[in-house]
Amino acid sequence: MNNFGLEIWSNNNFIVEDGQLKLNYKSMPSLLQIIEEIRSNDVRGPILLRFPHLIKKQIKSLYSYFDKAMTENSYEGKFSAVFPLKVNQFPNAVEAITSQGAQFNYGLEAGSKAELILAMSKTPAGANITVNGFKDKEMITLGFIAAQSGHNITITIEGLGELETIIEVAKECNLKVPHIGIRVRLHSAGSGIWAKSGGMDAKFGLTSTEIIEAIKLLREDNLLQHLSMIHFHIGSQMSDIAPLKRALREAGNIYAELKKMGAESLDSINIGGGLAVEYNQHTHSKSRNYSVEEFSSSVVFLLKEIMDAKKVQHPNIFTESGRFIVASHAVLITPVLELFTQDYQEKLINFKKVNPPLINELVDLNKLLNNKNCIEYLHDALDHMESILTLFDLGYIDLQDRSNAEILVHNIIKKALYLTSSNPTDELEELQVRLQERYLINASIFQSLPDYWGLNQHFPIMPLHNLNSVPLRAASLWDITCDSDGEIGFNPEKPLYLHDVNLDEEEYYLGFFNVGAYQETLGMNHNLFTHPSEYTIHLNDTGYEITNEVESKNILDILASLGYEKNEILNKLKTDLSNSKFITEKEKDDTLAKLQIFLQQNGYLRTTY
Ligand SMILES: *Cc1c(COP(=O)(O)O)cnc(C)c1O
Repeated sequence: MNNFGLEIWSNNNFIVEDGQLKLNYKSMPSLLQIIEEIRSNDVRGPILLRFPHLIKKQIKSLYSYFDKAMTENSYEGKFSAVFPLKVNQFPNAVEAITSQGAQFNYGLEAGSKAELILAMSKTPAGANITVNGFKDKEMITLGFIAAQSGHNITITIEGLGELETIIEVAKECNLKVPHIGIRVRLHSAGSGIWAKSGGMDAKFGLTSTEIIEAIKLLREDNLLQHLSMIHFHIGSQMSDIAPLKRALREAGNIYAELKKMGAESLDSINIGGGLAVEYNQHTHSKSRNYSVEEFSSSVVFLLKEIMDAKKVQHPNIFTESGRFIVASHAVLITPVLELFTQDYQEKLINFKKVNPPLINELVDLNKLLNNKNCIEYLHDALDHMESILTLFDLGYIDLQDRSNAEILVHNIIKKALYLTSSNPTDELEELQVRLQERYLINASIFQSLPDYWGLNQHFPIMPLHNLNSVPLRAASLWDITCDSDGEIGFNPEKPLYLHDVNLDEEEYYLGFFNVGAYQETLGMNHNLFTHPSEYTIHLNDTGYEITNEVESKNILDILASLGYEKNEILNKLKTDLSNSKFITEKEKDDTLAKLQIFLQQNGYLRTTY
């Protein structure tokens, strides 16, 4: 059975049962059931489902593995974590993160003014806020306001200039001074395609000379008692744990040195984010070489070792992993609108009274194909097809003959692939690739999977149903944008096979998994396709609850979001229609009513019912 690599990427979040993909939690509903319920309210287009229980699962595993490692190593510091808002700032994602994280005192990290305001308004009382990224005086003042308002906030300086501004603001106002962190520039860099955040040429952080200077400045201005944290972040989606260990050794030693230099209130090391998510569906290509358990025990063990050697108290450990926390919580589900070779239906064959001999032979091959002869008959059919195309080019047969032949050959190939599916030959596999089926999905890759478009990041893809039958069609997926980059092509290295379905008779839905990190705000409105309709699904013991509906923007709102005046557009359409000729007033009114309905719908296609 083809289970689409579920055991590799799904972390037991989903299981296949009775041919359907189900959530492996509480009442275990099938995704199809949820989607059908949502669509019964006339929702069309792609749908994004959020599962808060999957966020909780990740937060819990992070905290519990660190707790375990700390207990096992008799580690004296505490563990804390914050969620970096840049990974997903959507209201219902943040709501799920803060509510599921409340019992752990899980905080938020901000990297811009808007994110800081969001953090100040959404962080649960007592939880931490950390602030990274480049800051101006206003942003630093916001940090003071947050501290004054009771937040447990740490401003991490990325350069000496920021420290000077902090000193300036502290002198100018009477607000409470926030905790101060220093981002250290490490000579050890990260690994993976996002590893631009570490290393000596990194965009962020202070060199050792600058760190010494910072301590001096803080001491002179009597602010050293606010220095509480050193921070580094070696990049996202760490594929290998070795660079992290190198970075930890370096940062751990810097911490210990600073303690010896008299930074008494320094008590935390923030190791940034970077925990990787498994996106692969095929065993030969795994995204990471470590588990969360190994990650947490390595961090704790190394820091303890360094501190014990230098006789320094164990620091509190902070993490800012984002991708690891939220990637799994969101699933994008798209209806398939069309299979391009579906036009080759047998019922569309239109034989003549007298058909060319090659066509009669194809009819026989199609009829008589069986287990034993299928390879031979398939070869014959392909050979005939070549001849028929040549005859067509030379004008000996007409378009109807050619169409009949194409339908017959397609059927023969499908049958042959089916008959040999348990034991395909290299040739058949190659044929499958050549004859890949194109599935048109009601979604935009630019909007919903921007990292596929920009970085060639693979996301797990699988159908929600039909999972009792073997998928045989080598699949490439086309989205509905008018852009040839809006395609996930068939990749023989990481093949995706889907089912041969008749969309006139049944719906076919594809799920795209682990899309909860970065994709939503990075997604772009290319062709004016906006964020899909989204729903938060809470599972309970007997069923599930669908909440927080946010329908994809309607057409007028999409245009309004670009700055167009809705009324101006509406009036122009109305005037043009009412000035038109040759239809009655009643027909005009009816057409106008229809137009109004269209404008209230989202911009995705409505061709499936
Ligand atoms: C982006 C970022 C993170 C989050 O990284 P993930 O790979 O999503 O865990 C954490 N800290 C900082 C400073 C970042 O810039």
